Amino acid sequence: MNNIYRLLPGEDILGFVGRMHYLGPFSAFETTRQHLGLTAKRIQPGKITNKDDLKLGKLLKLEPKYIKKQHSHSMMLQYCATQEEIDKAYDYYATDKVKTVTFFDSSGVKANPWRWCRECASEDSEKFGCSYYHRNHQIQGVWHCHKHECLLMSECQNCAFEANSINKQCVPPSDGVCPVCNFEFGPKISYISPIMLEVEKVLLSMASGALNTNYTDMTKRALDYIGIDYESVELRVGMQYVREFYRNILQFYDVDELTEYFFNVEEMDGNVRLKTMCRNRLYNCQTKQLPLHPICYALMHVFLDHHHDAVPLAA
Ligand SMILES: [Zn+2]
Ligand SMILES: [Zn+2]
Repeated sequence: MNNIYRLLPGEDILGFVGRMHYLGPFSAFETTRQHLGLTAKRIQPGKITNKDDLKLGKLLKLEPKYIKKQHSHSMMLQYCATQEEIDKAYDYYATDKVKTVTFFDSSGVKANPWRWCRECASEDSEKFGCSYYHRNHQIQGVWHCHKHECLLMSECQNCAFEANSINKQCVPPSDGVCPVCNFEFGPKISYISPIMLEVEKVLLSMASGALNTNYTDMTKRALDYIGIDYESVELRVGMQYVREFYRNILQFYDVDELTEYFFNVEEMDGNVRLKTMCRNRLYNCQTKQLPLHPICYALMHVFLDHHHDAVPLAA
């Protein structure tokens, strides 16, 4: 029982809410939620910033740095936001005023249900007396447990039940069966390409803050690929190269691959359009546009890795 008020290794901080309810004294989830003073009614996985991360961190008396690195998704911010934007989001620790980062068209990025690895769930039950949701399994665009190299579970293969809010399945099922129909759970995704595995690795490095770059450097690298400087890239002369840049990224991935990340991939006459990603925030760190979801930068990062010796488009 003394595991209740501490986070377990690699535990997702919002997943902790589910375990807290599962092991806690209240029968209604709503009571647990109110008891913890949480803002969101539905506790969903994979959010990059949210008010409840910060509130729970304070409640557990944990340093923001510690939570960020191992238990939340907020390290990903450094790859898609300026230091000023990040500092604003973390003002809470000083001021109690919660401001989260709003992403451009975040509803265009596919949300996943709560996910778990069967092997981890059974190891955790044995070791800690209870299974729990891992942070690394909730990152949008990640479908594997990289410790056990297996697909993550989330969907009942019979009735399609999935936990899109944590109260539906407070901790990963240790028996692996659906609470509604008792059928077996399975992975939500059936096909993963080698390039999607590369993107997964980048997303995992972003979540732990280990990817050796930042938002400004990412945009600079994109600008180098385009071959135009800040001053002229937004002018008429730059636009054709920017469009080519977008087109090349979108052609590098299959539409099937892009559709695993985004809801709004449009294909018309062989041209792919993706408004959630193709914005000037990809290459211009001085723009006033809203931040793009980190998945956009993970996709761009892998694309640029594959084109590091390309001649700049405007050369
Ligand atoms: Zn595992
Ligand atoms: Zn079911």
